[in-house]
Amino acid sequence: SRQFTRPLNDLSNQFNTLLSAVAGAERVFEILEEEEEEKDEEGQKELGEVKGEIEFVDVSFSYEEGGNTVSQISFHAAPGETVALVGPTGAGKTTIINLLSRFYDTDSGSILLDGRDIKSIKREGLRAQMGFVLQDPFLFEGTIMENIRYGRLNARDEEVVKAAKEANAHMFITKLPNGYDTVIEQDGSGISQGQKQLLSIARAILANPVILVLDEATSSIDTITEMKIQEALQRLMKGKTSFIIAHRLNTIQKADQILVLKDGGILERGSHQQLLKENGFYSELYHSQLQKEIG
Ligand code: ADP
Repeated sequence: SRQFTRPLNDLSNQFNTLLSAVAGAERVFEILEEEEEEKDEEGQKELGEVKGEIEFVDVSFSYEEGGNTVSQISFHAAPGETVALVGPTGAGKTTIINLLSRFYDTDSGSILLDGRDIKSIKREGLRAQMGFVLQDPFLFEGTIMENIRYGRLNARDEEVVKAAKEANAHMFITKLPNGYDTVIEQDGSGISQGQKQLLSIARAILANPVILVLDEATSSIDTITEMKIQEALQRLMKGKTSFIIAHRLNTIQKADQILVLKDGGILERGSHQQLLKENGFYSELYHSQLQKEIG
């Protein structure tokens, strides 16, 4: 029925893995309901071709009135750059992503995409430019073929397979007795966490968004799968403006800029080398080798 297919259609390109990592699959429906209520304002224009330049200008936001979840966040990401968001739990990393995706709107300040305030862009249009690869990828009950195709519903089988190959997922898929026709159970059982990640990367490769949001897995994944994931991500990220909630030192070191967040503000910023020279909080985290704290 329309009621059932509508979310899939609406979200197909916008969220190639949906927001399951933020709060489970139900969250998607919450968002949809929310969006029904908060209609986009009249007069919002469609996006033309998007380069993917992102700028935060003095952005402040709180989930609750009078609070201060993030404050005075300013940064600029050129098209194709990788920005790593680093900092302790609760620092505001996810909130910055929520604001960029317009799941929430800023209380003050503005977020610009190619110089345009994202509040003047329809949510649907904005999210059509975005791809999400999250810690706990959203998979639905359906075949692997269908789950990858979710990134771009009109993709042909060959295109799905090509994306799976680029995502380093083809090998494990073809080793399954039913290959691409393997049915994934609703709870995603039957394949490993790392394999789920590879499927979500394949989905994002197929969607080919301009802006990529990546929430790195904190849970341990075996070394070989982890290497496959890292390699596939490098391929996926190429040419895309990427925002990574980063927990892994190698990802962080490769980022064009690192924003070190603490208590809702940017404490330090720069490349890995620059931050080490500054000898501050980041350097301390790095030298203590406490990867968990960096996450
Ligand atoms: P991080 O991703 O760096 O761990 P978050 O952006 O998730 O941090 O959280 C920043 C702060 O906002 C935390 O204090 C957190 O408890 C709070 N917070 C996050 N989501 C919500 C929400 N939906 N409602 C109220 N407070 C929230």
